[in-house]
Amino acid sequence: MTERWVIHLPVTAPDLLRARIFARTAARVLARLSTRVEPGGVTVSAEDQQGVRHWVFCDQRLPGDARCALPVDHTAPCSRRPPGLRRP
Ligand SMILES: [Zn+2]
Repeated sequence: MTERWVIHLPVTAPDLLRARIFARTAARVLARLSTRVEPGGVTVSAEDQQGVRHWVFCDQRLPGDARCALPVDHTAPCSRRPPGLRRP
């Protein structure tokens, strides 16, 4: 049996845009609490089509083994952190 378990936490939103926004916010908050959270793997789906997943973060590889933390549909260059967020 695997050593890793994945938490599936159903949260509803009225449309894809708001589902992505809520999922990004929740992932960023949870990632501050634990390094076990993998924001780049977050997806959302329609309730009646849960097999069709929509990515939430860009998650492109960046130099230095980092990942892009911007939304999947961003138009600015990839970045390690969203605009407006400062280091703690
Ligand atoms: Zn990107």
